[in-house]
Amino acid sequence: MNTAVLSESVQNSLDYTLFSWSKQKGLNPIDAVRGEGVYLYDSNGKKYIDFSSQLINVNIGHGNRKVIEAITSQLQQLQFVYPGMSTDPRGQLGKRLAEIAPGNLSKTFFTLGGAEANENAIKLARTVTGRSKIMSFYRSYHGATYAAMSAGGDPRKFAMDNAAVPNMIHVHNPYYYRCPYGSSSEKECAERTLHQIEETLKYENPESFAAFILEGQSGSSGCILYPQGFVKALHTLLQKYGILLIDDEVMSGFGRTGKMFAIEHHDVVPDIMTIAKGLTSGYLPLGGVMMTPQIAEHFNDQMLPLGLTYSAHPVACAAGVANLEVFDELNLVSNAAEKGNIVDAFAARMFEKHQSIGDWRNQGLLGCFELVKNRDSKEPITPWNAHPSQMEPTQRMLAKVRELGMFTFVR
Ligand code: PLP
Repeated sequence: MNTAVLSESVQNSLDYTLFSWSKQKGLNPIDAVRGEGVYLYDSNGKKYIDFSSQLINVNIGHGNRKVIEAITSQLQQLQFVYPGMSTDPRGQLGKRLAEIAPGNLSKTFFTLGGAEANENAIKLARTVTGRSKIMSFYRSYHGATYAAMSAGGDPRKFAMDNAAVPNMIHVHNPYYYRCPYGSSSEKECAERTLHQIEETLKYENPESFAAFILEGQSGSSGCILYPQGFVKALHTLLQKYGILLIDDEVMSGFGRTGKMFAIEHHDVVPDIMTIAKGLTSGYLPLGGVMMTPQIAEHFNDQMLPLGLTYSAHPVACAAGVANLEVFDELNLVSNAAEKGNIVDAFAARMFEKHQSIGDWRNQGLLGCFELVKNRDSKEPITPWNAHPSQMEPTQRMLAKVRELGMFTFVR
């Protein structure tokens, strides 16, 4: 039993607020008070290295003066106008995004975060195509609002299953480490997965599909890397049936994988791309749906059926503009690629040393260890969709990591 006296801020947070994705009893959150660069400090002065950039979103690090000053200066000038007005930060951020986005993605509808971006991307795809079905991977996460959650396959959605948004069809990932089709090479796993996707499309009526939504690179479902050529072949298959590709870059975007957007590793330009997290490095909430001119033009003479009070919030947009300048000044995208090589070398050494590491998958700085009880059987340390009572090893790892002064993500 934890008998430590909790600080007032922890006690108030526990008594009057709810914490995501947890049973509320027995929580013991880090009482964060300050951040600088890759470090966070709690109210006892303990220092933590923020190894996952919080929720894989504080891409430029904590306490960046340039972004803080851009936010405060915008606040002094104009703190809010409704989304029907234009503002300088809105225009500037839209323009910069068009410059850095893959191919001809050139127009952005701003949201507050990632789930909302996907929610609106799904609405957009359905409106433009006049079709309703959305295809996605079982091992994926697209956010916690209804349509985004229904599109994802993460078991966190099971609690809402009885009210899932309809017309979401899931297929297996090309997950070579545990290939659902028992393949003996990555190439074979990719081919068999693609074949099954086409079969599913045919059984489900390909002409009823508006879009396929996938993560630019898989994140919280286990950093499952796409086999070489897979995304391109999938894109070609989708084009054959007039199905749009929605690329969710919420986690994998903004340099995380060593390219500005992860889809760039695959030489594919999606029809719609969703962004959030690293767009402002978490300094303020902001997300967006980017689209090709062809999709945007659909609404030249038709109402755009999307809207949010805080769409294109001027202060959040000012944070985004300054944040992207920091990316350029510090060469953060190439830095992520270089640092990724160093991390890969360390990971290879850890793989030699620790039998519990079944697999290491990484691109740039978006990577994870898959932990197993036994390398031959590949039995996971904690089962897929583990019951809280089966989570003890995970909780123990988290506690140890914290004790050692590190914060990271364990799933
Ligand atoms: N899409 C992906 C790939 C994500 O990883 C996340 C969050 O982790 C989301 C969407 C949801 O973003 P948000 O939590 O900002 O709604």
